[in-house]
Amino acid sequence: MDIARQDVLEALRKVKGPELTGNIVDLGLVSEIVVSGASVFFSLTVPAERAEELEPLRAAAEKAAMSAPGVEKASVVLTASKKAGAPSRAVRPGPSAAQAGDVPPPMAARAARPAPQAPPARQGVPGIGAIIAVASGKGGVGKSTTAVNLALALQANGLKVGVLDADIYGPSMPRLLHISGRPQTVTGRILKPMEGYGLKVMSMGFLVDEETPMIWRGPMVISALTQMLREVEWGELDVLVVDMPPGTGDAQLTMAQNVPLAGAIIVSTPQDLALIDARKGLAMFRKVDVPILGVVENMSYFVCPDCGGRHDIFGHGGARDEAERVGVPFLGEVPLDMEIRTTSDGGTPIVVASPDGPHAGVFKEIAERVWARIGEERQMAGSPAIVYE
Ligand code: ADP
Repeated sequence: MDIARQDVLEALRKVKGPELTGNIVDLGLVSEIVVSGASVFFSLTVPAERAEELEPLRAAAEKAAMSAPGVEKASVVLTASKKAGAPSRAVRPGPSAAQAGDVPPPMAARAARPAPQAPPARQGVPGIGAIIAVASGKGGVGKSTTAVNLALALQANGLKVGVLDADIYGPSMPRLLHISGRPQTVTGRILKPMEGYGLKVMSMGFLVDEETPMIWRGPMVISALTQMLREVEWGELDVLVVDMPPGTGDAQLTMAQNVPLAGAIIVSTPQDLALIDARKGLAMFRKVDVPILGVVENMSYFVCPDCGGRHDIFGHGGARDEAERVGVPFLGEVPLDMEIRTTSDGGTPIVVASPDGPHAGVFKEIAERVWARIGEERQMAGSPAIVYE
Protein backbone atom coordinates (compact mmCIF):
# COMPACT_ATOMS: atom_id res chain seq x y z
CA MET A 1 0.00 0.00 0.00
CA ASP A 2 1.32 3.43 -0.93
CA ILE A 3 1.80 5.86 1.88
CA ALA A 4 0.22 9.28 1.40
CA ARG A 5 2.26 12.09 2.93
CA GLN A 6 -1.02 13.83 3.66
CA ASP A 7 -2.08 10.93 5.89
CA VAL A 8 1.20 11.12 7.78
CA LEU A 9 0.77 14.86 8.25
CA GLU A 10 -2.78 14.34 9.48
CA ALA A 11 -1.52 11.80 12.01
CA LEU A 12 1.25 14.18 13.11
CA ARG A 13 -1.29 16.96 13.66
CA LYS A 14 -2.36 14.99 16.74
CA VAL A 15 1.05 15.63 18.34
CA LYS A 16 1.16 18.79 20.42
CA GLY A 17 4.03 21.27 20.09
CA PRO A 18 6.83 21.66 22.68
CA GLU A 19 4.77 24.21 24.64
CA LEU A 20 1.81 21.84 24.56
CA THR A 21 -0.02 24.29 22.34
CA GLY A 22 -0.87 23.84 18.68
CA ASN A 23 0.51 20.84 16.85
CA ILE A 24 3.92 20.05 15.40
CA VAL A 25 2.73 20.31 11.80
CA ASP A 26 1.04 23.68 12.02
CA LEU A 27 3.88 25.01 14.15
CA GLY A 28 6.14 24.27 11.15
CA LEU A 29 8.42 21.88 13.00
CA VAL A 30 8.07 18.93 10.61
CA SER A 31 10.52 18.68 7.71
CA GLU A 32 9.73 17.28 4.32
CA ILE A 33 8.51 13.71 4.78
CA VAL A 34 10.54 11.14 2.87
CA VAL A 35 8.63 7.98 2.01
CA SER A 36 10.45 4.81 1.03
CA GLY A 37 8.30 1.71 0.67
CA ALA A 38 6.53 1.25 3.98
CA SER A 39 8.96 3.55 5.83
CA VAL A 40 8.81 7.26 6.52
CA PHE A 41 11.63 9.57 7.60
CA PHE A 42 11.50 13.16 8.72
CA SER A 43 12.98 15.58 11.20
CA LEU A 44 11.53 17.89 13.82
CA THR A 45 13.12 21.27 14.38
CA VAL A 46 13.50 22.09 18.07
CA PRO A 47 15.53 24.64 20.05
CA ALA A 48 19.04 23.27 20.58
CA GLU A 49 18.98 23.69 24.36
CA ARG A 50 15.75 21.71 24.67
CA ALA A 51 16.75 18.79 22.50
CA GLU A 52 17.26 16.29 25.32
CA GLU A 53 14.12 17.30 27.11
CA LEU A 54 12.11 16.95 23.90
CA GLU A 55 13.02 13.34 23.25
CA PRO A 56 9.44 12.31 24.22
CA LEU A 57 8.18 14.64 21.48
CA ARG A 58 10.31 12.78 18.96
CA ALA A 59 9.01 9.45 20.22
CA ALA A 60 5.43 10.72 20.07
CA ALA A 61 5.90 11.89 16.49
CA GLU A 62 7.30 8.51 15.57
CA LYS A 63 4.36 6.73 17.14
CA ALA A 64 1.88 9.05 15.43
CA ALA A 65 3.54 8.53 12.05
CA MET A 66 3.29 4.77 12.56
CA SER A 67 -0.47 5.14 12.96
CA ALA A 68 -0.87 6.49 9.42
CA PRO A 69 -2.19 3.98 6.87
CA GLY A 70 0.53 1.84 5.32
CA VAL A 71 3.37 3.01 7.58
CA GLU A 72 5.30 0.11 9.04
CA LYS A 73 8.42 1.95 10.13
CA ALA A 74 9.08 5.53 11.08
CA SER A 75 12.36 7.28 11.87
CA VAL A 76 12.37 10.76 13.28
CA VAL A 77 15.40 12.91 13.99
CA LEU A 78 15.44 16.00 16.18
CA THR A 79 17.13 18.89 14.40
CA ALA A 80 18.23 21.90 16.37
CA SER A 81 17.01 25.26 15.16
CA LYS A 82 19.70 27.83 14.51
CA LYS A 83 20.19 30.72 16.86
CA ALA A 84 21.60 33.89 15.39
CA GLY A 85 25.36 33.56 15.07
CA ALA A 86 25.50 29.96 16.21
CA PRO A 87 25.84 26.99 13.92
CA SER A 88 22.84 24.71 14.10
CA ARG A 89 23.21 21.13 15.22
CA ALA A 90 20.98 18.19 14.87
CA VAL A 91 20.66 16.01 17.85
CA ARG A 92 21.09 12.31 18.16
CA PRO A 93 17.68 10.70 18.06
CA GLY A 94 16.68 8.64 21.05
CA PRO A 95 17.67 5.03 21.01
CA SER A 96 14.18 3.87 20.16
CA ALA A 97 13.49 4.54 16.54
CA ALA A 98 10.31 2.78 15.61
CA GLN A 99 12.11 -0.22 14.21
CA ALA A 100 15.69 -1.27 14.47
CA GLY A 101 17.60 -1.04 11.22
CA ASP A 102 15.97 2.18 10.10
CA VAL A 103 17.61 4.40 12.65
CA PRO A 104 19.41 7.13 10.74
CA PRO A 105 23.14 6.58 11.11
CA PRO A 106 25.11 8.57 13.65
CA MET A 107 26.42 11.00 11.07
CA ALA A 108 22.86 11.78 10.04
CA ALA A 109 21.82 12.12 13.59
CA ARG A 110 24.64 14.53 14.33
CA ALA A 111 23.98 16.37 11.14
CA ALA A 112 23.68 20.10 11.30
CA ARG A 113 20.86 21.81 9.55
CA PRO A 114 22.08 24.86 7.72
CA ALA A 115 19.85 27.90 7.95
CA PRO A 116 18.19 28.41 4.58
CA GLN A 117 19.85 31.74 4.03
CA ALA A 118 23.23 30.73 5.48
CA PRO A 119 26.02 31.77 3.12
CA PRO A 120 27.91 28.84 1.62
CA ALA A 121 30.91 27.86 3.73
CA ARG A 122 33.57 28.19 1.06
CA GLN A 123 36.66 28.66 3.17
CA GLY A 124 39.40 26.19 2.30
CA VAL A 125 40.45 23.22 4.40
CA PRO A 126 43.84 23.78 6.07
CA GLY A 127 46.52 21.50 4.66
CA ILE A 128 44.63 20.64 1.48
CA GLY A 129 46.02 22.27 -1.66
CA ALA A 130 43.07 21.74 -3.98
CA ILE A 131 39.71 20.04 -3.69
CA ILE A 132 38.26 18.77 -6.95
CA ALA A 133 34.87 17.20 -7.62
CA VAL A 134 34.26 14.28 -9.94
CA ALA A 135 30.63 14.47 -11.01
CA SER A 136 28.23 13.05 -13.55
CA GLY A 137 24.83 14.02 -14.84
CA LYS A 138 23.48 10.56 -14.05
CA GLY A 139 24.46 7.31 -12.38
CA GLY A 140 26.24 4.36 -13.93
CA VAL A 141 28.59 6.27 -16.23
CA GLY A 142 31.70 5.22 -14.30
CA LYS A 143 32.09 8.30 -12.13
CA SER A 144 33.42 6.40 -9.09
CA THR A 145 35.67 4.23 -11.24
CA THR A 146 37.09 7.39 -12.80
CA ALA A 147 37.40 9.17 -9.46
CA VAL A 148 39.37 6.37 -7.81
CA ASN A 149 41.68 5.77 -10.77
CA LEU A 150 42.22 9.49 -11.20
CA ALA A 151 43.16 9.79 -7.52
CA LEU A 152 45.60 6.87 -7.85
CA ALA A 153 47.03 8.34 -11.05
CA LEU A 154 47.54 11.74 -9.41
CA GLN A 155 49.39 9.89 -6.67
CA ALA A 156 51.42 7.90 -9.18
CA ASN A 157 52.38 11.27 -10.67
CA GLY A 158 53.95 12.21 -7.35
CA LEU A 159 51.19 13.99 -5.45
CA LYS A 160 49.75 13.44 -1.98
CA VAL A 161 46.13 12.56 -2.55
CA GLY A 162 42.95 11.95 -0.56
CA VAL A 163 39.51 10.75 -1.62
CA LEU A 164 36.27 11.91 -0.11
CA ASP A 165 33.41 9.65 -1.10
CA ALA A 166 30.51 12.08 -1.08
CA ASP A 167 28.27 9.64 -2.88
CA ILE A 168 26.49 9.00 0.34
CA TYR A 169 23.52 7.31 -1.26
CA GLY A 170 25.78 4.62 -2.69
CA PRO A 171 29.31 4.91 -1.32
CA SER A 172 31.70 2.84 -3.39
CA MET A 173 35.18 3.69 -2.10
CA PRO A 174 35.27 0.98 0.60
CA ARG A 175 34.70 -1.63 -2.12
CA LEU A 176 36.88 -0.02 -4.79
CA LEU A 177 39.82 0.40 -2.43
CA HIS A 178 39.22 -2.78 -0.48
CA ILE A 179 38.97 -0.99 2.87
CA SER A 180 36.82 -2.18 5.73
CA GLY A 181 36.43 -1.23 9.37
CA ARG A 182 35.59 2.01 11.08
CA PRO A 183 37.67 5.17 11.25
CA GLN A 184 39.16 5.93 14.65
CA THR A 185 38.53 9.10 16.56
CA VAL A 186 41.57 11.33 17.04
CA THR A 187 40.15 13.87 19.45
CA GLY A 188 36.58 14.95 20.08
CA ARG A 189 34.71 14.68 16.80
CA ILE A 190 37.81 14.52 14.61
CA LEU A 191 38.21 11.25 12.74
CA LYS A 192 41.31 9.68 11.31
CA PRO A 193 40.89 8.92 7.61
CA MET A 194 41.22 5.33 6.41
CA GLU A 195 43.98 4.43 3.97
CA GLY A 196 44.03 2.43 0.77
CA TYR A 197 46.98 2.10 -1.63
CA GLY A 198 48.51 5.23 -0.11
CA LEU A 199 45.35 7.34 -0.47
CA LYS A 200 43.68 8.88 2.55
CA VAL A 201 40.02 8.00 2.30
CA MET A 202 36.81 8.98 3.99
CA SER A 203 33.46 7.56 3.00
CA MET A 204 30.00 7.34 4.41
CA GLY A 205 30.43 3.63 3.80
CA PHE A 206 32.83 3.48 6.78
CA LEU A 207 30.33 5.14 9.06
CA VAL A 208 27.09 3.36 8.31
CA ASP A 209 26.12 -0.24 7.74
CA GLU A 210 25.51 -1.19 4.15
CA GLU A 211 21.95 -2.21 4.95
CA THR A 212 21.06 1.15 6.46
CA PRO A 213 18.62 2.85 4.14
CA MET A 214 20.22 5.92 2.65
CA ILE A 215 17.21 8.16 2.78
CA TRP A 216 18.64 11.49 3.70
CA ARG A 217 17.17 14.89 3.54
CA GLY A 218 19.19 17.41 1.60
CA PRO A 219 20.41 19.42 4.59
CA MET A 220 21.62 16.30 6.36
CA VAL A 221 23.55 15.27 3.29
CA ILE A 222 25.29 18.61 3.30
CA SER A 223 26.25 18.53 6.92
CA ALA A 224 27.47 14.95 6.71
CA LEU A 225 29.65 16.08 3.84
CA THR A 226 30.88 19.10 5.75
CA GLN A 227 31.81 16.86 8.66
CA MET A 228 33.63 14.40 6.42
CA LEU A 229 35.49 17.33 4.91
CA ARG A 230 36.30 19.40 7.97
CA GLU A 231 36.26 16.98 10.87
CA VAL A 232 38.74 14.53 9.42
CA GLU A 233 42.46 14.69 10.04
CA TRP A 234 43.48 14.84 6.38
CA GLY A 235 46.96 16.16 7.09
CA GLU A 236 48.88 17.68 4.17
CA LEU A 237 47.38 16.83 0.79
CA ASP A 238 48.05 18.25 -2.65
CA VAL A 239 44.65 17.17 -3.92
CA LEU A 240 41.45 15.87 -2.39
CA VAL A 241 39.26 14.13 -4.98
CA VAL A 242 35.57 14.29 -4.10
CA ASP A 243 33.40 11.56 -5.64
CA MET A 244 30.08 13.39 -5.89
CA PRO A 245 26.69 11.71 -5.84
CA PRO A 246 25.43 11.28 -9.41
CA GLY A 247 22.98 13.77 -10.82
CA THR A 248 22.35 17.46 -10.60
CA GLY A 249 19.60 17.76 -8.00
CA ASP A 250 19.36 20.16 -5.11
CA ALA A 251 21.63 18.08 -2.87
CA GLN A 252 24.40 18.07 -5.47
CA LEU A 253 23.99 21.78 -6.09
CA THR A 254 24.23 22.60 -2.41
CA MET A 255 27.26 20.33 -2.11
CA ALA A 256 28.93 22.13 -4.98
CA GLN A 257 28.19 25.36 -3.17
CA ASN A 258 29.41 24.22 0.21
CA VAL A 259 32.72 22.61 -0.68
CA PRO A 260 35.59 24.97 -1.50
CA LEU A 261 36.18 23.41 -4.91
CA ALA A 262 39.13 24.32 -7.08
CA GLY A 263 37.25 22.77 -9.98
CA ALA A 264 35.02 20.00 -11.24
CA ILE A 265 35.42 17.12 -13.68
CA ILE A 266 32.39 15.78 -15.49
CA VAL A 267 32.39 12.10 -16.44
CA SER A 268 30.22 11.17 -19.38
CA THR A 269 29.67 8.18 -21.64
CA PRO A 270 29.45 8.81 -25.36
CA GLN A 271 25.72 8.22 -25.58
CA ASP A 272 23.68 11.28 -26.36
CA LEU A 273 21.49 10.88 -23.36
CA ALA A 274 24.46 10.96 -21.06
CA LEU A 275 25.69 14.05 -22.84
CA ILE A 276 22.44 15.80 -22.24
CA ASP A 277 22.85 14.90 -18.59
CA ALA A 278 26.50 15.91 -18.66
CA ARG A 279 25.44 19.34 -19.90
CA LYS A 280 23.28 19.66 -16.81
CA GLY A 281 26.36 18.87 -14.74
CA LEU A 282 28.32 21.61 -16.46
CA ALA A 283 25.49 24.06 -15.92
CA MET A 284 25.27 23.17 -12.25
CA PHE A 285 28.92 23.98 -11.51
CA ARG A 286 28.79 27.14 -13.60
CA LYS A 287 25.80 28.29 -11.63
CA VAL A 288 27.83 28.15 -8.43
CA ASP A 289 31.00 29.57 -10.02
CA VAL A 290 33.07 26.40 -9.78
CA PRO A 291 35.54 26.17 -12.69
CA ILE A 292 35.04 23.18 -14.99
CA LEU A 293 38.40 21.44 -15.26
CA GLY A 294 37.09 19.36 -18.13
CA VAL A 295 35.16 16.35 -19.36
CA VAL A 296 36.28 12.70 -19.29
CA GLU A 297 34.67 10.33 -21.74
CA ASN A 298 34.34 6.94 -20.08
CA MET A 299 33.48 3.69 -21.88
CA SER A 300 34.61 5.64 -24.89
CA TYR A 301 35.42 2.70 -27.13
CA PHE A 302 35.58 -1.05 -26.77
CA VAL A 303 38.77 -3.03 -27.16
CA CYS A 304 37.92 -6.55 -28.25
CA PRO A 305 39.65 -8.99 -25.87
CA ASP A 306 39.89 -11.60 -28.64
CA CYS A 307 41.08 -9.67 -31.67
CA GLY A 308 42.44 -6.55 -29.94
CA GLY A 309 40.44 -4.44 -32.39
CA ARG A 310 38.89 -1.17 -31.36
CA HIS A 311 35.12 -0.77 -31.71
CA ASP A 312 33.26 2.48 -31.27
CA ILE A 313 30.12 0.76 -30.12
CA PHE A 314 28.63 3.83 -28.53
CA GLY A 315 29.41 6.32 -31.24
CA HIS A 316 32.76 7.35 -29.83
CA GLY A 317 33.83 10.98 -29.62
CA GLY A 318 30.53 12.44 -28.48
CA ALA A 319 31.95 13.83 -25.28
CA ARG A 320 34.96 15.37 -27.03
CA ASP A 321 32.71 17.10 -29.57
CA GLU A 322 30.32 18.22 -26.91
CA ALA A 323 33.14 19.55 -24.73
CA GLU A 324 34.45 21.53 -27.70
CA ARG A 325 31.01 22.82 -28.54
CA VAL A 326 30.39 24.15 -25.04
CA GLY A 327 33.96 25.40 -24.66
CA VAL A 328 35.29 23.18 -21.87
CA PRO A 329 38.56 21.23 -21.99
CA PHE A 330 38.46 17.57 -22.96
CA LEU A 331 40.56 15.60 -20.50
CA GLY A 332 40.67 12.21 -22.17
CA GLU A 333 38.89 9.02 -23.05
CA VAL A 334 38.82 5.78 -21.09
CA PRO A 335 37.97 2.60 -23.02
CA LEU A 336 35.28 0.15 -22.04
CA ASP A 337 37.33 -2.78 -20.89
CA MET A 338 36.44 -5.76 -18.77
CA GLU A 339 39.73 -5.41 -16.91
CA ILE A 340 38.69 -1.97 -15.68
CA ARG A 341 35.50 -3.46 -14.30
CA THR A 342 36.98 -6.62 -12.80
CA THR A 343 39.86 -4.82 -11.13
CA SER A 344 37.47 -2.28 -9.61
CA ASP A 345 35.10 -4.98 -8.44
CA GLY A 346 38.05 -6.85 -6.95
CA GLY A 347 39.16 -3.83 -4.92
CA THR A 348 42.37 -3.19 -6.87
CA PRO A 349 41.63 -0.42 -9.40
CA ILE A 350 43.44 -0.72 -12.71
CA VAL A 351 46.02 1.97 -11.86
CA VAL A 352 47.33 -0.18 -8.98
CA ALA A 353 46.55 -3.55 -10.57
CA SER A 354 48.53 -2.82 -13.76
CA PRO A 355 50.46 0.38 -13.05
CA ASP A 356 52.42 0.13 -16.29
CA GLY A 357 49.56 -0.99 -18.50
CA PRO A 358 47.80 1.09 -21.16
CA HIS A 359 44.78 1.91 -19.00
CA ALA A 360 46.91 3.20 -16.13
CA GLY A 361 48.66 5.28 -18.79
CA VAL A 362 45.34 6.78 -19.88
CA PHE A 363 44.50 7.74 -16.30
CA LYS A 364 47.97 9.19 -15.67
CA GLU A 365 47.61 11.40 -18.73
CA ILE A 366 44.19 12.53 -17.57
CA ALA A 367 45.71 13.20 -14.14
CA GLU A 368 48.41 15.36 -15.69
CA ARG A 369 45.85 17.40 -17.59
CA VAL A 370 43.74 17.77 -14.47
CA TRP A 371 46.70 19.01 -12.45
CA ALA A 372 47.64 21.43 -15.20
CA ARG A 373 44.05 22.68 -15.37
CA ILE A 374 44.03 23.28 -11.59
CA GLY A 375 47.14 25.41 -12.10
CA GLU A 376 45.52 27.34 -14.95
CA GLU A 377 42.40 28.06 -12.97
CA ARG A 378 44.53 29.17 -10.02
CA GLN A 379 46.46 31.52 -12.23
CA MET A 380 43.28 32.94 -13.69
CA ALA A 381 41.95 33.49 -10.20
CA GLY A 382 45.16 35.32 -9.33
CA SER A 383 46.67 32.83 -6.89
CA PRO A 384 50.21 31.52 -7.25
CA ALA A 385 50.65 28.96 -10.01
CA ILE A 386 51.24 25.32 -9.22
CA VAL A 387 54.29 23.87 -10.87
CA TYR A 388 53.96 20.32 -12.07
CA GLU A 389 57.03 18.29 -11.31
P1 ADP B 1 28.96 5.57 -11.27
O1 ADP B 1 29.85 6.01 -10.16
O2 ADP B 1 28.86 6.58 -12.38
O3 ADP B 1 27.61 5.11 -10.83
P2 ADP B 1 30.66 3.26 -11.44
O4 ADP B 1 32.02 3.83 -11.43
O5 ADP B 1 30.15 2.64 -10.20
O6 ADP B 1 29.63 4.31 -11.99
O7 ADP B 1 30.62 2.22 -12.66
C1 ADP B 1 29.45 1.48 -12.96
C2 ADP B 1 29.87 0.09 -13.44
O8 ADP B 1 30.56 0.20 -14.67
C3 ADP B 1 30.82 -0.61 -12.49
O9 ADP B 1 30.54 -2.00 -12.48
C4 ADP B 1 32.20 -0.39 -13.11
O10 ADP B 1 33.12 -1.41 -12.79
C5 ADP B 1 31.86 -0.37 -14.59
N1 ADP B 1 32.77 0.49 -15.35
C6 ADP B 1 33.01 1.80 -15.16
N2 ADP B 1 33.89 2.26 -16.08
C7 ADP B 1 34.22 1.20 -16.86
C8 ADP B 1 35.07 1.01 -17.99
N3 ADP B 1 35.76 2.03 -18.50
N4 ADP B 1 35.15 -0.24 -18.54
C9 ADP B 1 34.44 -1.27 -18.03
N5 ADP B 1 33.61 -1.15 -16.98
C10 ADP B 1 33.48 0.07 -16.40
